[in-house]
Amino acid sequence: MKYKRVLLKLSGESLMGDNQFGIDNTKLKEYALQIRSITELGVELGIVIGGGNIFRGVQAEEGGMDRTHGDYMGMLATMINAMALQSALESTGIDSRLLSAIEMKEIAEPYVRRRAVRHLEKGRVVIFGAGTGNPYFTTDSAASLRAIEINADVILKGTRVDGIYTQDPEKDPKAEKYDTVSFDDVYSNGLNVMDMTAFTLCKENDLPIIVFNINNKDDLKRIILGESIGTLVE
Ligand code: UDP
Repeated sequence: MKYKRVLLKLSGESLMGDNQFGIDNTKLKEYALQIRSITELGVELGIVIGGGNIFRGVQAEEGGMDRTHGDYMGMLATMINAMALQSALESTGIDSRLLSAIEMKEIAEPYVRRRAVRHLEKGRVVIFGAGTGNPYFTTDSAASLRAIEINADVILKGTRVDGIYTQDPEKDPKAEKYDTVSFDDVYSNGLNVMDMTAFTLCKENDLPIIVFNINNKDDLKRIILGESIGTLVE
């Protein structure tokens, strides 16, 4: 096993499957099974989930809403996804805890770093809900922050594409995939890995990122076992 403690970032959109909005239960189940395949190896796993399948503050602002208000709604959207994921994990037999950056004591424990680490040590999957708890951030920033706080070995960013490309592979057929790329090259080539706040946090704390396709069923497990899949940023 190459990585012992990992932070998995899933976007809200990855939960939509083929739908245009919301949560696809079949996808959720698929992710839960993939997650189980790595927890069975003994990986300590934290998960940050986005909310873009339900609500994004920046889009609400375009429609005339106050940005801060919209961002809090976005953070609540991540909680809906987190609760759905927790339920899917549970029904797959995975022990998990949901920790929220915004207090919601009836449905989640408050985020306390030491508590999160304790859960991980006991083999529970920890889902970090409500992003960072602050407006003007993203769940990518939450993923970087939590990964650093729990001393994760790596962030695994599950996306719809199988890595980082020279151009957008969904638009340009000539785009080529990087197997490895340095933090500096991501800056100088303007590559899109995460938003800059999240990315800089990783760079400054020497936290490697692997971008991979979450829809390739065994890739998550193969990465944990040390195969070079996706793109490694280090
Ligand atoms: N958000 C926020 N602070 C955070 C994390 C998220 O304000 O720390 C809000 C923001 O409005 C964002 C929304 O929650 O648009 C959903 O998160 P994100 O866009 O990161 O989700 P993803 O794109 O990963 O689905």
